[in-house]
Amino acid sequence: MKLKIQTVRANNPGVMTGSGTNTYFVGKHHQYIIDPGPLDDDHLNTLMKCAHNARGILLTHFHKDHADLASLLASKLNIPIIACTPGPFDRTDIHIDITLKDGMVFDIDDTHLMAIHTPGHAQSHYCFLAVEDKALFTGDHLMQGSTVVINPPDGNLKCYIESLEKLLKEDIQVLYPGHGTPIENAYLEINKILRHRLNREMKVLECLSKESLINIDDLTKLTYQDRNQSIYPIAKRTLLAHLLKLKSEGKVKEEGEKWRLS
Ligand SMILES: [Zn+2]
Repeated sequence: MKLKIQTVRANNPGVMTGSGTNTYFVGKHHQYIIDPGPLDDDHLNTLMKCAHNARGILLTHFHKDHADLASLLASKLNIPIIACTPGPFDRTDIHIDITLKDGMVFDIDDTHLMAIHTPGHAQSHYCFLAVEDKALFTGDHLMQGSTVVINPPDGNLKCYIESLEKLLKEDIQVLYPGHGTPIENAYLEINKILRHRLNREMKVLECLSKESLINIDDLTKLTYQDRNQSIYPIAKRTLLAHLLKLKSEGKVKEEGEKWRLS
């Protein structure tokens, strides 16, 4: 590994955040900081201790657990915030100094970090590829130990799958997720997630072929029979994301509160 990578995990474990949000310091002689994390004094103090010649703060997306600390850290270190133009569902309270563009490259030590637009979890989501090290900082596009929540309307499953396919074209070996530990065999993992999503979609189509017209609550019970009911509220949002994808492909239709095959 050419690039020095240091991980600081915030103390915000939970259903959506796994073991907590990872903040990454990338680089030795000068650094970029990826996702400063949630508002938390202890986390901020640790970040301040780890920062040496930091050049900027990169945001994968604007969700609170990744971006809340951005403004405070940027002002304390006097460095720019680099992020995507906020989308219609994003907060606007973070001042962006440099706007991210797909393919933008940052020099770190003797290596390069490339921004890759990966809409899906959020429309304004970016991953960052350490090109020479073949290491991808995934934010919430991929996380360790669980699948990512796609919550419409900002979450878009069609975009999510297209973004996964886009990543398969890059030379990547290891994933550094926003939540959890690094994942080796990046291609295996990305393909696994793609398969998982497509299997779920098959299940949805199967249920719809049996029930002529069904609302999303009943569809959730049928599709997630094997899972604990505590996940139903999140599962419902995921199913809606599936249905909206299938609708955009002309495979299903919405009638009032109910859904059927086209
Ligand atoms: Zn997150």
